[in-house]
Amino acid sequence: MHRILIVEDNKALAKLIAMKMSNELDFEIDIAYSLQEAKLFIKKYTYFLALLDLNLPDAPNGEVVEYALERELPSIILSAIVDKELRKKLIQKDIIDYIKKDGISSIEYIISTIKRLYDNQKHKVLIVDDSLIFRNQMQKMIKNMFFQVITVAHGEEALAMLQANPDIKIVLVDYFMPVMDGLELTKEIRKQYSKNDLSIITISSNQDEEVTALFLKNGANDYIYKPFSKEEFICRLNNTIEALENIEKITNNANRDFLTGVYNRRYFYANTQEYFQEAKQSGQNFGVAMIDIDNFKKINDTYGHETGDKAIVNLSQILTTSVDAKDIVARFGGEEFCIILKDMSSHAIKEKLELIRKKVENSFIKDLDKQISFTVSIGVVTSAEDSLEETINTADMFLYNAKNNGRNQIVSD
Ligand code: GH3
Ligand code: MG
Ligand code: MG
Repeated sequence: MHRILIVEDNKALAKLIAMKMSNELDFEIDIAYSLQEAKLFIKKYTYFLALLDLNLPDAPNGEVVEYALERELPSIILSAIVDKELRKKLIQKDIIDYIKKDGISSIEYIISTIKRLYDNQKHKVLIVDDSLIFRNQMQKMIKNMFFQVITVAHGEEALAMLQANPDIKIVLVDYFMPVMDGLELTKEIRKQYSKNDLSIITISSNQDEEVTALFLKNGANDYIYKPFSKEEFICRLNNTIEALENIEKITNNANRDFLTGVYNRRYFYANTQEYFQEAKQSGQNFGVAMIDIDNFKKINDTYGHETGDKAIVNLSQILTTSVDAKDIVARFGGEEFCIILKDMSSHAIKEKLELIRKKVENSFIKDLDKQISFTVSIGVVTSAEDSLEETINTADMFLYNAKNNGRNQIVSD
């Protein structure tokens, strides 16, 4: 578990921050009331970050900050007063942020900042700039925000890097670069990535409003003029990643089933149609299977709806862990699932489904201390019909046959 260190001599405040944090964050929290205590903690543990009070009884002039930064401990500064002079001094340091101590709202800001930093760790940012000095400066600043950072010197390298890391979330592009300039690069990136998947921020000293507009019209999400304030840059970058995360959440909510997290029927049809046509044309073999829990009503009636839900979730997990990443698992309704197994021989498809049938038969869910097992029936089509809808209908008909034949079995073409 990650740890956070709070260094603050106001005991009531330190405890209040710690309490709020432990309610909302999954971190181990230590409190030091002086520089001396802070040193002991820092020697003993590795911290995710530290909150540092500028004014401590044994360190009245921010000495704790120097101590923490020398040890490369990511730090957020707490101060009772933040005037223009102090702000200027603080943002020159490699701190994450500074916060004025003024009540509950500042504690909430601290917590949301920590959450942001924690989530930033999973996102990749690509810096594209021909200037080594600027690249290094940016890299340091963005690493400070806990992002994974990749740097390249020009557009072609950027495109290759995107190919190798399709999960890059933000690209920072310079305008003037040799070979391919930032605008060309922006256009190229937008051929492959929508604004819902990746954000482009242009950073340039060119303040020509025509150029700014050109970038924005061609797919850049934002344009930042050089030189810029570090603080403004950090806020913009965090806003950008937050917007992407929100889009991802909304998309997931629309495409996925709430109970199991697998895709829903609507997504399945929308997403599989194109593959179906292409595979049929190219002669690639694939299978469409309908899977349904046997006598599910009995589980509900005997053990209750909640236990019934557990069976549905259990089946969804068996399905998702049994198929490849390229395959699609969807919950069509109730205790009924549909899966598409791509690029697989008819024989391999039947073997895989038999494995799934056995896995379900041998698994169990718990109702109090009782183990409840259940089975599934499966209908599968391995040589597709003319349309996806017809193929699914046939799989459904085979499923019906499997039920009539006594359940816990597979019927195929
Ligand atoms: P068969 O072996 O022929 O498939 O019979 P069955 O009992 O499994 O199928 P039936 O269609 O008769 O019953 C399905 C039940 O599933 C009826 C419905 O109340 C219940 N159900 C539908 N959605 C959910 C859900 O999300 N959670 C739970 N627990 N039950 C659900
Ligand atoms: Mg340049
Ligand atoms: Mg059923």
